[in-house]
Amino acid sequence: MTDVPFWESKSLDEMSNLEWESLCDGCGQCCLHKLVNDDTGDVFYTRVACRLLDPESGRCGRYAQRLEIVEDCLDVRQMRHAELSWMPRTCAYRRLAEGKPLPNWHPLLIGTSDSVVTAGVSIADRTISEQAAKLDDLEAEIIDWVEI
Ligand code: SF4
Repeated sequence: MTDVPFWESKSLDEMSNLEWESLCDGCGQCCLHKLVNDDTGDVFYTRVACRLLDPESGRCGRYAQRLEIVEDCLDVRQMRHAELSWMPRTCAYRRLAEGKPLPNWHPLLIGTSDSVVTAGVSIADRTISEQAAKLDDLEAEIIDWVEI
């Protein structure tokens, strides 16, 4: 028996699906449209969310079917580690890939999923849908409350 939690004893690739899914804090930030500067590689988050996002909870409303419904939805488990740099700095997948610990408010440490809201990381009630936004003017929707 070991007291070392799975996220410290296993690599991301070694984790079971259940362990992998439990690492997601549900912040919803990966469901926001992003802009990338082609010259610098800098990533900018916008408040414009995928049409499947439930704006009140800040979570995907069709999580199990998302990859079939949204053509460019990314399966985070299939992303190469370098691609995880598109994710927010608070995201457990990115942090573990970079050799960092979980943030101290992470639900797996605190024991409640509400901690992502308390920590100010959830996008709940902070977005507009891509169906209402002007997608040709995303620069106007860039936000500064995601830690990139
Ligand atoms: S950014 Fe990371 S932690 Fe947040 S919802 Fe997406 S996968 Fe989960």
